[in-house]
Amino acid sequence: MADLISPESPFKEEVQRFIEESGIGEKSDEILGPFSDISKQVAEAIWDAFLPGSPFSSLSWELLTFTLIVATGFWFFRKGRGAKDASGRERPTKSLLQYLLPEDIYTHQSARVDIGLYLLDRGMMPIWFALSLGTIAPFFEQNTIGALQRTFGASPGVDPTIPWRLFYGLVSILIVDMIFYWTHYMMHKTQIGWALHKVHHSAQVLTPLTRPREHFIVGPLWALGPAIGLAISGGIFAWVFDGNITQITILNVGVFSVLYALNGNFRHYHISFRYPRWLELWLQSPGMHHTHHSYLEKHWDTNLGLVTSIWDRMMGTIYIADKYEETPWGLAPKDQAEYTTLRDNLVTPFREIIRILGKKPKIYPAGIGPDLSSQKSRDVIG
Ligand SMILES: [Zn+2]
Ligand SMILES: [Zn+2]
Repeated sequence: MADLISPESPFKEEVQRFIEESGIGEKSDEILGPFSDISKQVAEAIWDAFLPGSPFSSLSWELLTFTLIVATGFWFFRKGRGAKDASGRERPTKSLLQYLLPEDIYTHQSARVDIGLYLLDRGMMPIWFALSLGTIAPFFEQNTIGALQRTFGASPGVDPTIPWRLFYGLVSILIVDMIFYWTHYMMHKTQIGWALHKVHHSAQVLTPLTRPREHFIVGPLWALGPAIGLAISGGIFAWVFDGNITQITILNVGVFSVLYALNGNFRHYHISFRYPRWLELWLQSPGMHHTHHSYLEKHWDTNLGLVTSIWDRMMGTIYIADKYEETPWGLAPKDQAEYTTLRDNLVTPFREIIRILGKKPKIYPAGIGPDLSSQKSRDVIG
């Protein structure tokens, strides 16, 4: 059994403990081979999302360079159009350097706050990981396999042909997409969720470091959902393929990681990357996330999806913007005033949560921005 666990698996100890304590039985011994690989893959996906270093991380030099190459292609192809300035308005540019790395965006206070939040989040991640993710993902995977065995008996031993592999990849992506949508929906539609998620939305400019910009107590929530999703789909297909899943997982999730990381970089980059309208009705283009970050009321709580637009369409939260529609980034002015500096973004969520739990109404300081009492419409659940 121990041989089947990858020595690099960060879950090695947890896996071994589960195997010993759970008493799942000899049958699962045959299937648990891929367990460690899936755990490893989940660990890598989480690591990739938060840490540079892996070639598939959206913050690796490889992918950042690839992002710049694609953006340079846009510059030639669109004759300098399609880039936005710090206020989220389209700005025709004359030089390639200004198109790719505009000074007003990369010297903006918001871009500096991105760095501070990122470093904090990165520092906290190993702690969260050790406390929860390291045990929860294997737990879900093991129990999925166990439940299938109890309900349907032994694995059907399906031969993992290419169509089956693609199907497995598709199921995994769709599960992650669904979990992401609903996590994101709750972040926007609950008062406490929004108090925390405002940290992400207080970014007044979008840079690749805006992607992991979150309050450090929210980072693990974003990682946990997809980790559970991947663990469940991994468990299902480990049972279907009788454990013969290792290579497929790496292949599919690897490809997905690259696409997701590139997509993720353009989601938080001032250069708009849109798909044709018919395709955006099915898949989230990176540019659709520009609208999501806009503080204009018509854009609030729209385009919450990650990979597909299916959930946004079902829930009526999809918004297909015009080609050069302005998307001024950040929070509505009154909220922005409380979420601007690094300290604001760390402290205000706690203050807000205490206020919400004490059921005190929100009182904005006088004279800041227009009256935005309709902001309440964002907090619908309670
Ligand atoms: Zn959001
Ligand atoms: Zn975002």
